[in-house]
Amino acid sequence: MTCYLHPHTPAVAQCTECQRPVCEVCLVRVNAQPYCEHCAVNRHTQSPFWAGVFSLFVPGLGQFYNGDWLKGVLILLTGWLILPWVYGIIDAALTAQAIAQGERTATTIPQGYIILALKIGVLGLSCLYIGLVWSLISFGLAMAGINELGNP
Ligand SMILES: [Zn+2]
Ligand SMILES: [Zn+2]
Repeated sequence: MTCYLHPHTPAVAQCTECQRPVCEVCLVRVNAQPYCEHCAVNRHTQSPFWAGVFSLFVPGLGQFYNGDWLKGVLILLTGWLILPWVYGIIDAALTAQAIAQGERTATTIPQGYIILALKIGVLGLSCLYIGLVWSLISFGLAMAGINELGNP
């Protein structure tokens, strides 16, 4: 089998996405998986650092970044309990590392521009989340206050 771009060079691997054989020069490894140069453009190396940062600011965001959508939603909904939030940071970093080393494949690896949007949007999202949690807490306090006033 020879490279699909270089008909005289033997192929060393097959692209994970398009299955085309690639030579040493054309081979690009993303998350330890072989890709051709064309398909590698749409892939990115999973970063444990960014996964942790995302989860630090918004619970569950690191899970979205890893492609764990269901887990991300669960952590987002329970993040205000703090413990799932902390668990989410550790889990996101460890999962991202496993993906980067090819030990685990993400169900859906987000496209590069989604990651870029996440990186830029993380500050806004964190403000939104903290605001939401705060309004819930103050609403809870207000309700408690009304109940106290209502009781003789
Ligand atoms: Zn390919
Ligand atoms: Zn080649």
